[in-house]
Amino acid sequence: MIALFVFLFGISIGSFLNVIVFRTALSETIVKGRSKCLSCKHSLCTKDLIPVFGYLFLKGKCRYCQSKISWQYPLVEFLTGLVFLAFYFKYHFGIAIGFPVEGFDILLLLARDWIAVSVLLLIFIYDLRYSYILDRFTIPTIILVLLLNLWLGLSVSSLILGAVVIGGFFLVQYFVSKGKWVGGGDIRMGVLMGCLLGFRDGVAALFLAYVLGALVGLGLLATKRANRETEIPFGTFLSFTTLLMLFLGKWVIEWYLALFV
Ligand SMILES: [Zn+2]
Repeated sequence: MIALFVFLFGISIGSFLNVIVFRTALSETIVKGRSKCLSCKHSLCTKDLIPVFGYLFLKGKCRYCQSKISWQYPLVEFLTGLVFLAFYFKYHFGIAIGFPVEGFDILLLLARDWIAVSVLLLIFIYDLRYSYILDRFTIPTIILVLLLNLWLGLSVSSLILGAVVIGGFFLVQYFVSKGKWVGGGDIRMGVLMGCLLGFRDGVAALFLAYVLGALVGLGLLATKRANRETEIPFGTFLSFTTLLMLFLGKWVIEWYLALFV
């Protein structure tokens, strides 16, 4: 029963993430007015706005102008629901998390992860669509997760070291290439990864993002869907592997270390 509630909560947050992505891109304020159809500008009624089900009920078309609704909406909603549920189960079943927490702190930990994955999903979609990692997503999250992590008793030195090393990694590239290889948003993303995951898991997420980026890049080249000039939205890979390490961190590290024993 709680699981169902968590899932519905997740898809509602997913629905909100869609709104943030599109309204940020159109530089409208988040709360201004009712949601409208992006084609005919007709205000949408409440039942059209029900996450996932509204889309299914309308068969993916606007009620008023019949234009297609982006499948990004239900997909993001559904995925957010699944991810929220996954993190809930992780703590519900007391799966090893690498550092000791109990009682109220478990709730804080879950809250931290839900906030973090919401922002990571935002960065994932936004960078994929518009090739930008926005400071308004990263900077408030850096402050929030850092405070929560300090409260939860994570190693201060690990968090700071992670932020400095991963952020610094992008900062150096930024200066060397005069902003051509990476953008300023990547630097803030690096800091966020360090403050969220700490040094060890953060560096692992960075490394995995390069591996994944290379694999996807090669795949696109091989299938001729990209050429050497195609820009890879790296924030998309960074947010994906950060989410992965947030969920699986301990196991990924143990598996990796086991390769050398
Ligand atoms: Zn319409």
